[in-house]
Amino acid sequence: MTMFSVISKCFNPRSLNPRRFLTFNKNRDGISKPKPVMTTLVPPDFENEGNDNTNTTLKIVELLSEAEEYLNTHEYTRAITVLQHATQCGSATAAAKLGIIYHGGINDTIPPDYASAAVYYLFALKLIYMIPCNKWDMSLVLDVIAGLSELYRFQMNRKRDCDIWNHGIKAMKHIDQALQDPLATKFLSHKEIQKRRAIRIHIAYCLGLTAEADKDFSTALTAFQNCQKFGDCGFNTADKLVKKSHTKVRTLEPQVPRVKPVCVECQYEAKELKDIWTLLVCAKCQSVACCSKACLTNHLSTHHENEGEDKKTK
Ligand SMILES: [Zn+2]
Ligand SMILES: [Zn+2]
Repeated sequence: MTMFSVISKCFNPRSLNPRRFLTFNKNRDGISKPKPVMTTLVPPDFENEGNDNTNTTLKIVELLSEAEEYLNTHEYTRAITVLQHATQCGSATAAAKLGIIYHGGINDTIPPDYASAAVYYLFALKLIYMIPCNKWDMSLVLDVIAGLSELYRFQMNRKRDCDIWNHGIKAMKHIDQALQDPLATKFLSHKEIQKRRAIRIHIAYCLGLTAEADKDFSTALTAFQNCQKFGDCGFNTADKLVKKSHTKVRTLEPQVPRVKPVCVECQYEAKELKDIWTLLVCAKCQSVACCSKACLTNHLSTHHENEGEDKKTK
């Protein structure tokens, strides 16, 4: 199985439930007759519920169902045009769907276009970020973040795609921060909490990949350790990433000095790599280094004193 077929399998837009894309605005369905439309960039769920906004919301609902019909009748180019229109109206759902379409491509009609996919995913994130986090559709956020994370892992190149890579990381950090807001998790069901965890796993893993590519191994190690800590969330890819981060941690640990290259006794600081190698790490606590045997002996005596104190206090 090629990477391409794996991705198109995961991201075949028709394998996603089309209804789900429409439930985003379901609560606004009560109004019967659509009024003339204003095209704005205000996302549908934005707090201010002025008339223009309701109109935009209605327009987006219409456009999304129109796009869905075109997808069902295999008129993909038309579907894309309608989704682009909905994206311009501020629909994060439409932007996410375009990202998914360009990511996997559709049969022979629409070839995968990873650059466009990344741009639409990013746009979706920006629109999501404009909505208060307690109103986020976690499935939508997970679709976008999982899509982006897949692009980072298999399609994008840290050097070649530097700009979009950095923008994506910045956006993901914002999303991750918002997800830690207690408001965002207050009324979440168990399933939603698992989705939130999956989102954060993807983000931590992408942060790790970025630092690793930049040879910032200590940041990478922290990111993969964070990823590891989330544990299982019941979402296949995210669970795999947690497992993968175990391996990453194991390979990164030897590359990150755990002991500060400063003599604990005389404060001599080793700056050159060859000097760092000559430092002696205390075998007893394994957490400090010494510059010489004399300093090490002095340091070891503090262990004996402490032990003595320990015994006294017992
Ligand atoms: Zn020393
Ligand atoms: Zn020691």
